[in-house]
Amino acid sequence: MAIVVTGAAGFVGRAVLRHLVRAGEQVVAVDRRPSLAAAGVRVVTADLLDAGGDVTGALRCADAVIHLAGCPGVRDDRPDVERHRARDNVDATARVLETVPPAVPLVVASSSSVYGGSRDGRPSREDDPLRPTGGYARSKVRVEQLCAARVADGALVTTARPFTVAGEGQRPDMALARWIAATRSGVPVQVFGSTARRRDVTDVRQVAAALVGLARSGEPGPVNVGTGVGHTLGDLLDAVEAALGRRPVVELVPAAAEEVTATLADTARLRSLLGWVPATDLRALVRRQAGVPAGPARTARLEAVPA
Ligand code: NAD
Repeated sequence: MAIVVTGAAGFVGRAVLRHLVRAGEQVVAVDRRPSLAAAGVRVVTADLLDAGGDVTGALRCADAVIHLAGCPGVRDDRPDVERHRARDNVDATARVLETVPPAVPLVVASSSSVYGGSRDGRPSREDDPLRPTGGYARSKVRVEQLCAARVADGALVTTARPFTVAGEGQRPDMALARWIAATRSGVPVQVFGSTARRRDVTDVRQVAAALVGLARSGEPGPVNVGTGVGHTLGDLLDAVEAALGRRPVVELVPAAAEEVTATLADTARLRSLLGWVPATDLRALVRRQAGVPAGPARTARLEAVPA
């Protein structure tokens, strides 16, 4: 089975690639940045929208496609960010959708941000109304509309909605990566709004396994990829302290409108498709992301680091 992974050089893409390589799959890794070379992996370094024969051929001949390429980041505020979102989220997905044959399972990365946060602490379900609160979320709603139109034509497109993904290689613009770096450097961590805000944090290794499972199931429609358990930002800060042996110094800054109060996945559909759902051991996950080995020696060594 040849599985095409787009965005294979990115945070989630690298984890998916590792998962597939370990499973002995044949993979075509597509990204405009060079992807990891490994046995069983054919690397295609190209932009999906400038793509010539290599990308088109790979997408047409795939046994399954996991499409992760895109312009992520809810708080990306580059002046031309809307152009990047339109190009790399919407136009690139349109290109993938029109190239992959309808009978080939295609998993497209949307985002939990399409919900605009959980309502009254209730887990967000796939049939809830979508309430995007910023440009990133709106671009993902547009992506989902394109996917739904393709599904209506009979295509096997699964729209995955990952909830805050964490773990080794997390994008440096994401909160946990920024907090680990800041705490290591002894500078304050910026927390938007309040430490009581909650996130359904999902382990990148389990997200990779779930995306591959969804590609194997070929079930069309949206599906949450989360744990169904919320952690406060305070819990995350505690986990950073436990991993690094130093307390993050918190600087509260006003939250922008797109910073929702809480996210929480309803996992019933994911469980029905995979037979399992991700579960997050927050402290172990943060330690792994920080590159800190487990065990008593770690604490002693880190406590010796001058503040
Ligand atoms: P990332 O930025 O680390 O990876 C995206 C990759 O896509 C990059 O390597 C980039 O070079 C590539 N890319 C972008 N546009 C391209 C194009 N036109 N042609 C070829 N390559 C292109 O992002 P990530 O965190 O790994 O996220 C992967 C996907 O999952 C994104 O669609 C993102 O919106 C979605 N998502 C991520 C999270 C999360 O917590 N990381 C949560 C929800 C959804």
